[in-house]
Amino acid sequence: MCKAVVVGSLNLDTSITLERMPQPGETIAAQGISLNPGGKGANQAFALGRLGCPVAMVGAVGRDAAGDTLLESLQAAGVDCSCVARREVPTGQAFITVDSAGENAIIILAGANSTVSPADVEKLRPLLAQADCLVLQLEIPLETVMAAAKLARSLGKVVILDPAPAPGPLPGELLALCDYLKPNETELALLTGLPTATVEQCETAARRLLAQGVGTVLVSLGAKGALAVTPQEALLVAPPQVKAVDTTSAGDCFTAAFALRLVEGETSLQAALKFANTAAALTASRPGAQASIPARDEVEALLAAR
Ligand code: ADP
Repeated sequence: MCKAVVVGSLNLDTSITLERMPQPGETIAAQGISLNPGGKGANQAFALGRLGCPVAMVGAVGRDAAGDTLLESLQAAGVDCSCVARREVPTGQAFITVDSAGENAIIILAGANSTVSPADVEKLRPLLAQADCLVLQLEIPLETVMAAAKLARSLGKVVILDPAPAPGPLPGELLALCDYLKPNETELALLTGLPTATVEQCETAARRLLAQGVGTVLVSLGAKGALAVTPQEALLVAPPQVKAVDTTSAGDCFTAAFALRLVEGETSLQAALKFANTAAALTASRPGAQASIPARDEVEALLAAR
């Protein structure tokens, strides 16, 4: 029986390293290539599974090798993929080119992610009925995100939205369905149109979202940790100090780890943030996307050592 449901994107990321970017019409040699399972929805489902939460993923991939790779990765983390549809369109993919100066250029094909519809959401009613929490992001159509949030709310479930990629302000109707909203500083600025350069500015911007109906805003602040803002309080919790080597999926791991502690019944916001920061810091300390996400015992060991 799943405790958390993730409705969102699955992408295969292909990273190509180059000496320099090609000009239009030019053919150049690459230095290396790596294929990594990703997509914010899949990363969050993977992290929930790795951290020991019974979790189901809802989304879509194509009938292609990329789709097989993504499903295999999630299944290896214990994620129930029976509600990931296979469609007659390509699997979502990101092609990331990185030059020797570290500059990147990224091409994204939404592919099957763009086919996840409100009709798919209606099919997940039985799954959601037995779960405690729904986790969402914004890499699938907004109307689908909205339909999923509405269904979860009507069933009395906790809704967590990671508003990435932030399109600018979100409809007030969606914000009012979010028990928890987890933007980073950049997303918070895009959502509110307010500056977010300091912790004080982040708190002011987060309060704007509370006024629009969000239950609690969790602002992830990279190496500074996370700021939780509720109508009653603002709580800044620092992560453990780590040497960050690759922060890809750190935010996804943060969202998933926080959701895990909620479904486990953690009532202390401070304790849930400490756990989420610790899991995310471990992710930032390792290379890779899903490959860098820690198992539960690794998080517990670092928490105990602090
Ligand atoms: P996003 O990936 O969504 O932009 P952040 O960069 O804010 O998110 O990182 C998410 C979380 O990962 C942070 O709240 C923190 O817990 C952890 N984290 C990120 N970078 C570091 C770092 N350099 N040291 C320790 N923890 C980090």
